[in-house]
Amino acid sequence: MINVTKTFLPPQDEFNAILKRAWDKNWITNRGHLVLELEKQLKAYLSVPNIIATTNGTLPLQIAIKALTLKGEIITTPFSYVATMSSIVWEGCTPVFVDIHPDYLTIDASKIESTITSETSAILATHVFGNPCNVETIEHIANKHGLKVIYDAAHSFGVTYKGQSIFNYGDVSTCSFHATKLFHSGEGGALFCNNQDLQNALFYHHNFGHDGPEHFQGLGINAKMSELQAAMGLAVLPYMNDIVYARKKIIDYYNSNLDFSILKRLKIREATDWNNSYYPLIFESEEQLLRVKTLLEKNNIAPRRYFYPSLNTIDYIKGKSMPISEHISKCIMCLPLYVGLKQNELKRIVTIINESLC
Ligand SMILES: *Cc1c(COP(=O)(O)O)cnc(C)c1O
Repeated sequence: MINVTKTFLPPQDEFNAILKRAWDKNWITNRGHLVLELEKQLKAYLSVPNIIATTNGTLPLQIAIKALTLKGEIITTPFSYVATMSSIVWEGCTPVFVDIHPDYLTIDASKIESTITSETSAILATHVFGNPCNVETIEHIANKHGLKVIYDAAHSFGVTYKGQSIFNYGDVSTCSFHATKLFHSGEGGALFCNNQDLQNALFYHHNFGHDGPEHFQGLGINAKMSELQAAMGLAVLPYMNDIVYARKKIIDYYNSNLDFSILKRLKIREATDWNNSYYPLIFESEEQLLRVKTLLEKNNIAPRRYFYPSLNTIDYIKGKSMPISEHISKCIMCLPLYVGLKQNELKRIVTIINESLC
């Protein structure tokens, strides 16, 4: 079976050697040496001033909303993984959708301002597939209206925009280190923030509010990364350049061989050094997509409909219609992209797609 992704596993002896350090210390959670080491290495790798390693990529979104004391309406994108929107609802706020740009697939910043009401407290947007949002316009609008900005950067590990880490934009950025993501620690994630007071608040929130063993700074939750997760992260990180290079070669193959007289691909924002995280392909219609998907599946190839459905249509949400996001969601599918995908497999995927288009 050729899946949409295949988790990169580091050599097991290297993972075991790192795990042994946790055994030797008899310490497997509560910000032990491995978590501290991973945070240090990630700060250097990503060129970010701060990082808090977390147990997944969803709690950081909830913690960001909590720490920024957001209330009322949060403007967000309908084209993302469900966690972006469900975190808003989980924190008792109301997601207000703004449609996406048809080429970049990120929130259409030119449509944000008309959606702002007296209840709006923030913008929570996704750098979808690692493609940066229009961060300048969003920052301008947020400053003008006194709104906070959170970026769900779950797909954006290693992306730089205008020469700096995409995690440095917004009041808070979050990432996911889930096994299906570009860099992973099995389950895991991170919070990024450049304001020291807010960084402190995020930190307390992610550890029950603890300020020492007997004092509490305020309300908190448990979002700590464990030593076992950090061990996986530390074992994967040295391979990141190889991983990105291998994926780039696959993407180059798709780019040179798929039939782009019919298909459309993601337009990466200018001034972006992208991370090769996904290969989304936009078909002319849902019917065409389903035909191709069925044929691929008959050949034991499993693409994924990222992201479907458009989040405004999920039934616990009463979202307004979002024509572009709903259309794109129906017509977009991610192709297999992982280290170890072979040339003959790629050729088969491309041939099946091109031959079943018309
Ligand atoms: C994967 C993902 C998340 C959630 O991350 P987990 O680590 O699985 O909790 C949030 N937002 C987006 C856009 C994602 O793709």
